[in-house]
Amino acid sequence: MTAYAPSDVMSITVPRDSGGCGKTHVREGEGKLSVDCAGCEAHIFGALSRHGWSADPATVALTPDELATVEAQTQAAGMGSNLQIAQALAQIATALAGSGLSAVPSTPADLVNGMSAAELDALARQIAARKASLKKTTPEG
Ligand SMILES: [Zn+2]
Repeated sequence: MTAYAPSDVMSITVPRDSGGCGKTHVREGEGKLSVDCAGCEAHIFGALSRHGWSADPATVALTPDELATVEAQTQAAGMGSNLQIAQALAQIATALAGSGLSAVPSTPADLVNGMSAAELDALARQIAARKASLKKTTPEG
């Protein structure tokens, strides 16, 4: 088994006293430091797993920088989907306006506020279906 370090770890030395080989394992090139050394691995998995080390590079803990990037991306994605919902609501409002119904709400927020729970459920399903079809037809981005 190989032990993978968070990407801000450049090297590790596990002393012989702690069961390691006593040599310094250094990160080579880009990517994460990985240690493929039986004695050192045992110490790493025993003592350092809570510091983000993992046997699977996909589950290594993110560094603060990486976390900030992920949070920014997640926020951007959330803003994108809010925009899609607003656009869908605007389309519904336009369709309602064309239907001759009275008291047509002027904004998507007014529209939602005027809907019953059943209507909101129906709208949520419609939005989910629309988003799913957009994902199928539109490439990433
Ligand atoms: Zn070692």
